[in-house]
Amino acid sequence: TEAAETYEFQAEVARVMDIIVHSLYSNPDVFLRELVSNASDACDKKRFLSLSSASEGKENTLTEELAIRVIGDENDKTVTITDSGIGMSKSELINNLGQIAASGTAKFVEAIKEGAADVSLIGRFGVGFYSAFLVSDRVIVRTKSPNDAKAWRWESEQSKNYTIAEEPDPASFLPEGTTSGTSITLHIKAGMEQYLTDYRLRSLLETYSEFVSFPIYLWTTHTEYEKKIEKDEKTGEEKERSVPRTEKRWEQVNKTKPIWLRKPSEVTDTEYAEFYKSISRDWNEPTARSHFSAEGEVEFRALLFVPKQLPFEMTQNMFSEASKPIRLYVKRVFISDKFEELLPRWLSFIRGVVDSEDLPLNVSREILQQSKVARIIGKRLVRKSVDMFREIMGRENKDEYTTFWENFGRYLKVGAFEDQEWSKELLPLLRFHTSQRGEAWVGFDDYIKEMKADQKKRIFYLAAEDRTAAANSPLLEKLNKRGYEVFLLLEPVDELVIQQLNGKYLDDYKLIDVAKADALDDLDAESAADKEQQSKELSELEKEYEPLCRWMQDLMQETVEKVKISKRLTDSPAAVSLSAYAMSPTMERFMKAQAT
Ligand code: ADP
Ligand code: MG
Repeated sequence: TEAAETYEFQAEVARVMDIIVHSLYSNPDVFLRELVSNASDACDKKRFLSLSSASEGKENTLTEELAIRVIGDENDKTVTITDSGIGMSKSELINNLGQIAASGTAKFVEAIKEGAADVSLIGRFGVGFYSAFLVSDRVIVRTKSPNDAKAWRWESEQSKNYTIAEEPDPASFLPEGTTSGTSITLHIKAGMEQYLTDYRLRSLLETYSEFVSFPIYLWTTHTEYEKKIEKDEKTGEEKERSVPRTEKRWEQVNKTKPIWLRKPSEVTDTEYAEFYKSISRDWNEPTARSHFSAEGEVEFRALLFVPKQLPFEMTQNMFSEASKPIRLYVKRVFISDKFEELLPRWLSFIRGVVDSEDLPLNVSREILQQSKVARIIGKRLVRKSVDMFREIMGRENKDEYTTFWENFGRYLKVGAFEDQEWSKELLPLLRFHTSQRGEAWVGFDDYIKEMKADQKKRIFYLAAEDRTAAANSPLLEKLNKRGYEVFLLLEPVDELVIQQLNGKYLDDYKLIDVAKADALDDLDAESAADKEQQSKELSELEKEYEPLCRWMQDLMQETVEKVKISKRLTDSPAAVSLSAYAMSPTMERFMKAQAT
């Protein structure tokens, strides 16, 4: 064999390693979850490749068991995780373990610095492998890929460099009968010896890797007692004695029947919550779930969750690509968690699993986009998601919907304005602040319930920068006096939702923009006689103040379209309002932001 070649880690990797090595507060436990999850991904890939090539007419060649094996060795001070997955070629070793493709690192480093994340969240940033350095100072990866004639050994001592050398004998690290896979040996640091014991390894695997769908075997010590008959030398009496005999053997530590295949009545709340945590990497329990199956036209099973909080990967970017809502399986084979086609983007905060009987194993984005099956599945997922939101809304503890709304309201608003198919269903779920109820969130139904009798089914709204600005707006004076509530639209998307309604809610209710100059004209003028009287008063005033208006208009000709006498104010002398077809200031800002 040739000598080892030395490579330099990409600078980003070095930074991640640096954080890991120096992180004081993080919980090193996560290393095992991350390495087992990579092992499980590698098994998924191998199964997927063999099955999808089989479905193209070739023979299904996969006769090997796909499994993960873990050994703690207290003498060598090593922990070894071996999988019979897809393995890595030499170039994959360099690409996958020497550099980080995505912008994951920068985000990870930033999040750690800002205190928004700790190292236990490492897996979300696509750098989970490096958590190996939480517990070890030397890592050896031995691997064999079906696409590379040779097997390789990668080694790093958490320095700037790593080495790669040929590994002459794949059988030395792969289980018998296995043609590809990876074995990762961690040399455990001083002070981390607890991770060498099978007791500790078992408890970590049981906690974090319960839902891995391949068997995880742990090399475990078993003590067995053998009965022995012994003769007492002096008395000659025969006695039975238990003699302990210790033995090491592989023991499976996880159940592998997927939770979504079980009957909902037989799965406990805790099991659902743990499963949710394992797919989402959230440490909170979900706030709602829906476990259902569809039969007939299309057949599939699904398990969906609503998280309690906005998933971390979505905090910076509302529609972050790092958010992976649905894990798609076809006949129990994991296909991908990257298909955005299954859910509209306004539901990208949902987490869950779909297992289809009808989609082909080689399903791709293009196939999904044109597939009727995928369309039907997608529709059912939206239906069940909306049902979950309704269920939360109906709960006795109103705080639960408030929390839900504060985390995910923006997504529902986007749905309400861009998804024609669901918009109507979403409207009753929407909440806004109003001119009268401080911090409380008010929905259309609630607004209508509290409507004044003389308000005549008019729903008022005003776009403003924030609640204080809105509260001080002179535009509200008249309405406040009459006790009419006004929806405050504080985000551009609020306005998009309302505009999309074309001036009415549920046919019966008129939506009125308080900022529009003529919005309140008919408020005082109830009868025809009133109207006439008022317009007479107004024209007299207009005549009287015509010189003032002209003077002001000249003064501000750059900024205002028109200066007018108005009766809409009660306390303030003047207000800026919008012409009937003008864009509101928030919208204007929104449009500008979109354009750049
Ligand atoms: P992620 O799993 O999010 O991609 P990781 O840092 O955990 O990020 O792993 C980086 C990459 O290294 C993986 O995407 C995979 O390509 C490769 N890899 C890691 N562990 C294994 C393994 N046991 N078998 C095959 N490939 C692996
Ligand atoms: Mg990983």
